[in-house]
Amino acid sequence: MRAGHQRQPVRMLLILALATLPAALPAQTVSASWPDGFHNTTPGREPQTRDLLPWLWGRLTGPAIRHAPDEIARQPVDVARLHQRVDGLRVTWLGHSTVLIEIDGFRVLTDPVFSERASPFSWLGPRRLTPLPVDPARLPHIDAVLISHNHHDHLDVGSLRQLARQPGGAPAVYVPLGDDDWLREDGIPQVQALDWWQQVTLGPARITFVPAQHWSRHITRRGRDRSLWGGHVLQVGAVSVYHAGDTGYGPDFKAIGDRLGPFTLALLPIGAYQPRWLTRRQHIDPAEAVQAHRDLRARQSLGVHWGSFVLSDEPIQQPPGDLAEARRAAGVSEDEVMTWAIGETRSWSAP
Ligand code: ZN
Ligand code: ZN
Repeated sequence: MRAGHQRQPVRMLLILALATLPAALPAQTVSASWPDGFHNTTPGREPQTRDLLPWLWGRLTGPAIRHAPDEIARQPVDVARLHQRVDGLRVTWLGHSTVLIEIDGFRVLTDPVFSERASPFSWLGPRRLTPLPVDPARLPHIDAVLISHNHHDHLDVGSLRQLARQPGGAPAVYVPLGDDDWLREDGIPQVQALDWWQQVTLGPARITFVPAQHWSRHITRRGRDRSLWGGHVLQVGAVSVYHAGDTGYGPDFKAIGDRLGPFTLALLPIGAYQPRWLTRRQHIDPAEAVQAHRDLRARQSLGVHWGSFVLSDEPIQQPPGDLAEARRAAGVSEDEVMTWAIGETRSWSAP
């Protein structure tokens, strides 16, 4: 891994050009109640394509950013351990928003991205700067996949295809409204779309799709806000885990905590938060993650959505430092709102 400077004007211009193209497929009406696309619960100005121009100008004219992926703690996943079923909760962070959650042996993957780029193209888009800590083919059987939204650092069709071929059968794949039909057309089996607050049961698990403050667009398959976005609450017995996906700060956290909390563990994004003028509505920063942890009534939280891809202006290694500062300011311990090494596994005994 090399420390590098993120200053790639040609590549950024290509990304900008792609981002401004309409989706290749016509947008479909996904819900009669949202004829102009899906909306957040709190009205506000969402990030627009034209905001990318001043951001790009700032990147081209501002100081270079020192990304140092070598400074990010990581360890290979202990695969043999994962193949031994345990009671209670066991969680493994595979980098970014990809997390393996096991509760009493029921296995769920959130936002699986195994590819080298967070992009529909193998030659363009944010490249992985820290390696995946495991060969996904060596993971134990996955029962369900939870997809928060269709941005490419969360929904990777190649990874879903690989999981569909796993020994023992394809996992159930839960996606937001509007992302089911095109995934089925792309050959992904067992896809079910969920609306906010919709609940499904699968084996011992209850899964609830919950609101987030964000937006959606899949560069080649879905137009702007033509599919929904959100987080998930996974409950098995007395254990419950909240997976936020991508979200800005707002009243959704408190509503989720009131309706479904408290949580054994919350997976909260702590990366992609600079510059704030561009990212505030769509991504919480570390201080807002600490506040969200409290709003949710989570016993512990793990900071995710950092360390693998450069999606914004803070150095890739910076989120844990900013989180430590936010914890100090809020009087929260590092055991309560945590960061781990990429590839790390931790267990909680059955309550
Ligand atoms: Zn996103
Ligand atoms: Zn994201």
